[in-house]
Amino acid sequence: MARVAVVTGGTRGIGEAIAVALSDKGFKVVANYGGNDENARKFTERTGISAHKWDVGNFDACHEGIAQVEAEFGPVDVLVNNAGITRDTPLHKMTHQQWDDVIRTNLSSCFYMCHAVMDGMRKRGFGRIVNISSLNGQAGQFGQTNYSAAKAGILGFTKAVAQEGAAKGITCNAVAPGYTDTEMVRSVPPEVLEKLIRKIPVGRLCTAPEIARAVLFLVEDEAGFITGATVSVNGGQYYH
Ligand code: NDP
Repeated sequence: MARVAVVTGGTRGIGEAIAVALSDKGFKVVANYGGNDENARKFTERTGISAHKWDVGNFDACHEGIAQVEAEFGPVDVLVNNAGITRDTPLHKMTHQQWDDVIRTNLSSCFYMCHAVMDGMRKRGFGRIVNISSLNGQAGQFGQTNYSAAKAGILGFTKAVAQEGAAKGITCNAVAPGYTDTEMVRSVPPEVLEKLIRKIPVGRLCTAPEIARAVLFLVEDEAGFITGATVSVNGGQYYH
């Protein structure tokens, strides 16, 4: 039987590429999204993948969302925590709201979603969790204290979940993309983007399917010994 995979923020950008790659590999995929109904409708038309709206920054909504998915599609074996937002501005200008929104949507969401699937995965003795971090969580970035903190937090969270899940057949890994050609990056002013691209050794932006490739590798049944890892997909931009 096909394994059920949930991809948060799976209707656009990197999440869409992950959802499509998983579906192409035979997973039964459900894409979550936050608010853009029109985009989600077109995504489902285009891909045939079911799209479900809930706010990943809300604990109860995540639990209700997973309960609905499981009632309709069956137990969730694969969770990709991909949904994320930016609220960029230097720390001295950052509002409390901008800090909270990014921490909640990008980091707390990983806890909420994992919490919603963890009991089931533990009972079944199988789970694959991938959390989408960022190059800017590894290296830091000007104007992104909120985002860098959330994405760095994901790396510690991932390693702790990996230790807790190991004896139950649950792996938890992080993928840290570099600059990838999606709406999130297209919102960066062109002159800033040009400077960013000059710093990428491969000399171009990453494409969303190139990130999906790493996720696919980590969620296969055969990947049971890979856990607590961070896979960087950044064109050689950052290494440590
Ligand atoms: P996009 O902005 O293109 O897409 C974001 C997706 O997340 C959308 O599907 C959006 O739904 C969803 N989303 C946002 N907020 C919520 C919420 N509260 N609840 C549920 N879903 C939500 O982002 P990218 O594809 O560029 O980024 C995907 C992930 O990769 C993010 O975590 C990002 O931080 C990370 N990343 C991206 C990089 C890049 O260069 N693009 C680099 C490194 C990391 P809706 O359509 O309804 O708004």
